[in-house]
Amino acid sequence: MNARYSKKHVVIVGGGFAGMACARELAKSSDVQVTLIDRNNYHQFQPLLYQLATAELGSSDVATSLRQSLSRYANVEVVMVEVTAADPKTRTVTTGKGESYQGDFLVLAAGSQANFFGTSGAQENSLPLYSVTEAQRLRSRILAVFEDADRDPKLCDQGALNFVIVGGGPTGIEVAGALADMIRFTMAREYPNLAVKRPGIYLVDHGQALLGPFPAEAHEYAARVLQRKGVQLRLGTAVKEVAADHVLLSDGTSIPTRTVIWAGGLLASPLAANAGLPRGHGGRIAVRPDLTVENFPGVYALGDFANIPSPDGETLPQLGSVAQQCGTWAAKNILAEIAGGSRTPFYYRDKGIMAMIGRDAAVAAIGKKRHELDGPIAFAAWLGVHALLMSGVREKVEAFIDWAWNYFGRSLPVQVLDRSDESRINWGDDIQSGSSKAASAATSVR
Ligand SMILES: Cc1cc2nc3c(=O)[nH]c(=O)nc-3n(C[C@H](O)[C@H](O)[C@H](O)COP(=O)(O)OP(=O)(O)OC[C@H]3O[C@@H](n4cnc5c(N)ncnc54)[C@H](O)[C@@H]3O)c2cc1C
Repeated sequence: MNARYSKKHVVIVGGGFAGMACARELAKSSDVQVTLIDRNNYHQFQPLLYQLATAELGSSDVATSLRQSLSRYANVEVVMVEVTAADPKTRTVTTGKGESYQGDFLVLAAGSQANFFGTSGAQENSLPLYSVTEAQRLRSRILAVFEDADRDPKLCDQGALNFVIVGGGPTGIEVAGALADMIRFTMAREYPNLAVKRPGIYLVDHGQALLGPFPAEAHEYAARVLQRKGVQLRLGTAVKEVAADHVLLSDGTSIPTRTVIWAGGLLASPLAANAGLPRGHGGRIAVRPDLTVENFPGVYALGDFANIPSPDGETLPQLGSVAQQCGTWAAKNILAEIAGGSRTPFYYRDKGIMAMIGRDAAVAAIGKKRHELDGPIAFAAWLGVHALLMSGVREKVEAFIDWAWNYFGRSLPVQVLDRSDESRINWGDDIQSGSSKAASAATSVR
């Protein structure tokens, strides 16, 4: 037992769905003291990030104070600091400030980041969507290109109003649909001098179908809805290079743009590489069915940070529902260990997956059944599928209802450009980098 604590001490890294669920479950026991460490002082609700990016919601709608959420538990302390390394043998983590936290149990739930798969220029020039900060940057970029193009419409020839989304999974589909609706319903009214009715929204994926994890029929439905909204699909095409002013595709096409949204895949957060633990696909920590790490007693890895085996021999998907359920399960296993009992293998209750495609369509896969949903039913189903994720964050339900209300009322959200996107856009000739010149030999898209 850690001398500083009179009870068993559990250190949790990450206040996402997994870390929060684990902390909440442990907090119910008077046998443990919990330290929850996160680099932010808030829990971010990732399923609503694209609504933040498309200015349908504000930051406070998608982020909840960790302290407030956990304030009623006297045995939970929250520390806001970046963890930079972990020593799994002693169950100790070290922070960027040089402090260390040692526990009888160590729970690693630090989530994920964008995986650029080594694509040239992607890290520097594209905008991922995995955190509140990234969503704010993207929103700022979208609003900035509209303001710039309004001032100087000739910038449209440089791709000011072209948007390229990389990745045709649920995140890419949801962003594409929301962006198409934002431009059609909001920007067209706010920028009457710009011809934005037919925006240049391109969705690129190297696979031949959208929405990989969904049943086959959903792929075509998503494609139909997006095309109806004016999104141009480039399937079976890889992104070769992302430059500051264009994207180069594997078929030789170059799309001039200042807004490349990266939804191309996930990699475990950088801490995974510094944790001295076995890693697998996506750089995630390999765990046993009971969520512990082999050969490291008392160490658990959860959610997007871990490859969690499923009974069919595959690994469970990176989903909020998986993260939340395994957080609760890990806490129960820890309490069982403390009580001298035995741990049990994690059982995931699959409530289904769902993707909204703009304001009026959605596709859901629940069990073996696929559902295509329109209008208010789509919103109701989203609430149903996400109800558990929202439990404990009541304000998120309110935010979602506000968002739905805005959608149906066609009301205009406030488009405040707060310049979260620090890198101002350079429209000058000096942008012609070596790679840009090379790309000018490629087929160009307007
Ligand atoms: C745009 C988008 C939409 C999504 N939509 C859905 C959906 O509709 N339904 C669904 O089920 N899932 C959805 N997901 C997936 C779901 O959000 C994730 O699977 C889930 O958030 C994973 O939870 P987690 O607790 O493992 O990680 P996270 O929620 O990412 O939490 C990790 C936490 O760790 C903290 N952290 C990371 N590194 C450090 C460090 N070094 N030091 C300190 N703190 C650190 C982070 O700040 C963060 O708070 C979506 C994801 C995205 C990006």
